[in-house]
Amino acid sequence: SPFSKHVGSGSGSPAMGPSFTLRSQLENVQETGIAVGLSSTGLAGDRLRNHAGPTGRPGETTMAIRAEYIWIDGTEPLPYVRSKTKIIDDSENLPIWGFDGSSTNQAPGDNSDCVLRPVFSCPDPIRGGDDVLVLCDVCLPDGEMTPHPSNSRAACVEVYEKYADQEPVFGIEQEYTFFLEGRPLGWPVEGYPAPQGPYYCGVGAIEIAGRDIVEAHTKACMDAGLAISGTNAEVMLGQWEFQIGPVNTVAAADQVWMARYLLYRVAENFGVDASVAAKPIKGDWNGAGAHTNFSTNAMREGYDAVITACEALGAEGKPAEHIAGYGLGSEERLTGAHETQRYDQFNYGVSDRGASVRIPWQVHLDQKGYIEDRRPNANMDPYVVTRLITNTCCEALA
Ligand code: ADP
Ligand code: MN
Ligand code: MN
Ligand code: MN
Repeated sequence: SPFSKHVGSGSGSPAMGPSFTLRSQLENVQETGIAVGLSSTGLAGDRLRNHAGPTGRPGETTMAIRAEYIWIDGTEPLPYVRSKTKIIDDSENLPIWGFDGSSTNQAPGDNSDCVLRPVFSCPDPIRGGDDVLVLCDVCLPDGEMTPHPSNSRAACVEVYEKYADQEPVFGIEQEYTFFLEGRPLGWPVEGYPAPQGPYYCGVGAIEIAGRDIVEAHTKACMDAGLAISGTNAEVMLGQWEFQIGPVNTVAAADQVWMARYLLYRVAENFGVDASVAAKPIKGDWNGAGAHTNFSTNAMREGYDAVITACEALGAEGKPAEHIAGYGLGSEERLTGAHETQRYDQFNYGVSDRGASVRIPWQVHLDQKGYIEDRRPNANMDPYVVTRLITNTCCEALA
């Protein structure tokens, strides 16, 4: 199991903070005398459900696992990630489930049921064993699984299926900022830290804040089987990045949401909050983006297709359509400073980190590869961003 690798390493599981240890699990079992969902050792893999089995005869046992059902709520202007636990017999057949939409800005109180449809599952690296994380999309209780208005995944799947033959692939760079007691992690109680400069990819106690959390999150993503491809400290103290990809249009978005869930969940164990705000600190401090790298089979084979994709993103009406779907705070973040192009201007260029879309120098050298759309904000909905880019570029390349 992915979890058991950590147990007995001497320092406990790196995916767990100080508030959630094996010891506290065991004490809990001893205090209550109940071991439902926990084995006698607290370790994974041997969780017997001590209740009457299918025939109702006492003493029968069935295996049980915990499935954490995760969904994106309807809060405006930015949704929250929500989750709750379902105890099920196995992870092969994940049932649909429901929740109270009136508590998540997804339904009125007098007609509150919303439906959770499992769309992507993976091992739960925090609980370990056979437990799973289950990403869901939200549907209406109309018997036809009509996507809820807050469900942006359904439209993403539709566009992906239309252009799947072009093999669209994404790598998303998710930037974020840790917060503790109302200020970025590592910042002094009053005033500001030393100006930006030494923090990007920094090393050392003055340059870095939150590395333990980042390491635990990275390991959790790997143990969950996500396509995490790297991490780095960012330009502002307390700000970090992880990358997901390269994987297809829908998988990239599913995995960014799952990796965000794990980020919030792991940071919670450290008593720290992670924020995807686009401009967490006003003034001369870096914003947080979600650079979105993209290619199709044709782009990976030749440079003409790379240029076609760039031109398509700049075509009449397209820059405004894309900016509108790239998250909240473009006006504050995309100012032309801090390695951005202005939100109301579009250009593309080789190696140009001041452009809307960058063609990496290696891509120009190889005359094939991918492009980087630098405009999406850290708080963007990846289902919307990967849908827009797939639609615009694949339509032009068809
Ligand atoms: P940067 O130099 O902009 O910081 P990163 O290394 O942070 O770039 O991120 C680059 C991302 O691009 C990674 O997620 C990587 O998986 C992704 N990527 C690499 N090749 C491709 C490709 N052909 N198509 C789409 N994404 C790609
Ligand atoms: Mn990067
Ligand atoms: Mn970055
Ligand atoms: Mn980048």
